[in-house]
Parts: sequence; C-alpha cells; structure tokens
Amino acid sequence: MTETRAAPSTATIPCAFCGAVNRVDLARVDQRPKCGKCGKPFLLDRPVKVDQASFERTIADSTVPVLVDFYADWCGPCKVMAPILDRIAHERAGEVLVAKLDTDRAPEVSVRLGIRGIPTFILFRDGKEVARETGAVPADRLEALARK
Ligand SMILES: [Zn+2]
Repeated sequence: MTETRAAPSTATIPCAFCGAVNRVDLARVDQRPKCGKCGKPFLLDRPVKVDQASFERTIADSTVPVLVDFYADWCGPCKVMAPILDRIAHERAGEVLVAKLDTDRAPEVSVRLGIRGIPTFILFRDGKEVARETGAVPADRLEALARK
C-alpha cells in the first residue's frame, strides 16, 4: 500500500466496562489506549461488542473498515465462527475493526440492514456496506471479506 492518508486510523467504539464511546487512535494500539471516562484499557486485538446505540457511530466514525458479526447467543454456527473472528481481530488489529452485535438486542438495526440469517458478517467503510457473507462460511471467505 502506497496510499498515504492525512487522517489517522481511528476507531469509535464503546468501552466494554462503562459503555462510554471513545475515539481510539489505532496507531497506538500497542500502548493499550484507555477509556477517557473510566480509565480501563481497550482490548483492540479482539472483537469489540457494540449495541444498537453505539453501532451507528462505530461504523460511521471509524476511519478503518469495520467488520461486524451479527450474532445471537443461542446460535450454533455463530459459536463455530467466533474463533475465526477472534483470529482476524488479532491479526488485523489496527487495520480492520472487528465488532460484534447481538441481534436479539438490536432488532431495529437487524431489520434495517435486512439481516435474515445469522451469523451475518458485513464489512462497512465510512458507514456504508461494502460486502457481506451469511452463515458459517469457510475461514478464507471471512478473511477475504475483511480485506475488501
Ligand atoms: Zn470506560
């Protein structure tokens, strides 16, 4: 990649501990950025849980692509896919933000995006859908999605 960007790579994500939405500089991911409200660290090498309230800001404000896993706790194929998603979050930390949204707790978002089966994986860039996969797809298909 020879592209140079004026804007830093940032992710706008809710704190896992207090829920405060923070803008995190992904160039400093190794320095364990902390929540501006409660001071607890952001764990950016694993999927970040978002909810219906924080989802829109996360996909619209993050300058890196956001891969969202639309899942549910009772969904078997979602559990199968979870370790693959964890690995992508770890390997692509700072390049792609991996987020998880519990569809049972976000019915409005699910309807608006036309999610009919779970797991559904959607890659967003600047808040817009770039591509999606549905179901327990092979790991390489999910990795390819995260590179679109
Ligand atoms: Zn916090």
